[in-house]
Formats: sequence, structure tokens, C-alpha cells
Amino acid sequence: MRELTEIIDATIQAVAELKRAGVTHVAVSPETLEELGRPPSPQRGPDPSAELAAIQARAAVCVKCNELARGRKNVVFGVGNPRAELMFIGEAPGADEDEQGEPFVGRAGQLLTKIILAMGYRREDVYIANVLKCRPPENRQPLPDEVSHCLPYLLAQIELIRPKVIVALGATALRSVLDIQLGITKMRGNWYTFRDIPIMPTFHPAYLLRNPPAKKEVWEDMKAVLERLGRKAPQ
Ligand code: URA
Repeated sequence: MRELTEIIDATIQAVAELKRAGVTHVAVSPETLEELGRPPSPQRGPDPSAELAAIQARAAVCVKCNELARGRKNVVFGVGNPRAELMFIGEAPGADEDEQGEPFVGRAGQLLTKIILAMGYRREDVYIANVLKCRPPENRQPLPDEVSHCLPYLLAQIELIRPKVIVALGATALRSVLDIQLGITKMRGNWYTFRDIPIMPTFHPAYLLRNPPAKKEVWEDMKAVLERLGRKAPQ
């Protein structure tokens, strides 16, 4: 953080010197110009990055689930803005996520990214995590023991980030935090609450890959999320 502050200070000083020397324009690349023109990421409350990093360090050496710990390449903790107003929770990493150490980077992840962009956010504006931080073999469903071992990490992430809205992607995500046994088809589109945070359950992107017509329902759910966040759905 100190390094970043030093870089910013040095940049401001350099620009001020150019101005004093009579320079009125500086050349920037089209990419930089585009980046500068973007609205800033929604920032809320104090920055919990350090606490998140400490929990991530604990998760990185976790061996509570023998089978998962032995089979993993990476512990996939979570990614995104630690002060995000919107948090997505999935089930567990797949092969691509295990390989790269980042949630939702495979085919289902690319679809999730499209949903996020369609909502008017960048991927780095929101926070993305899973119930399990390690890949289950053959992508099988998480076992109840695995969920109870891993859940404290997710609960800590939720408590530190305190998003304004959580989107639960699929039944595993929803049941893990809410202890409800209904199917996702019955629950999607309705608001629930977890520790005073509204949760919108919706279909998992992997289900959308198998069943594209369900994208319509997911978009309805995401519009409800945007409304709750006081944002307009982009056309
Ligand atoms: N499915 C999930 O639930 N999480 C991922 O990170 C990837 C696929």
C-alpha cells in the first residue's frame, strides 16, 4: 500500500512539474484514456483486504478435507473488490479454477462474467467466491462434511465484505448459507436474508450452459438485484 501511495505521489509531482514548465497536454494510450474515463469501482466502508488476506493464508494451508487437500493444485479463495456492494457465491472450483486459483474462470465462469458485464459492472467491481475452496474430484457435489469444514471461510468473507446484496448461484450456495432444503427452481427470484444481507438465489451458470432458455429467468433475477442496489439495468 505504501508503495502505491509513493507511486501516486511521484506521478502527481511529475505532472505538476510538467504543468509548471508550461506543458498543457500529455500523451496517453487509448487504453489508459478508456480506463481514466471509467466510473470508479463502487467503494464502501473500510478496506478489509488485510483481514481477507490473513484468512486466505489460513485457507491456503487448510487440510480439513483430506481428499480435497490431496487432490488440489490451488486453493481457490475468492476474487474481486473487497468492498464490493455485490457478491456472487458459487459451489466449488472446477478444473480450470483449480488450475488457475481463481473462481469462475472456466466456461461457466465466462458466462458469469458476461452476466456481470450485462449488469453494468466489471468483474473486478464485484466479489466472487465459492462455498468450497478446493475442487471436489470429478466435480462431484460437495459432501456435507466438506461444506461444514469450508463454510467458516465463506462466512468470514461475507462478514468482512458486507456486500449490499448476495447472489447465490445454485442450490448448494443457497442451502449452505440458509439451511433451506427447497430446490433452486422454487427459490430463485425470491429474496431471502442472511445476517441482514439480502440474498437472491438464481440458477448456476453451469445450468444455463445446459439449459440456455433459463437465461431469461436469471436476467429477471439480476434486474431485481440491480433495482435493490438502486441501479438501472443497462438496455
Ligand atoms: N462452478 C462454481 O460453482 N464455481 C466455480 O468457481 C466454477 C464453476
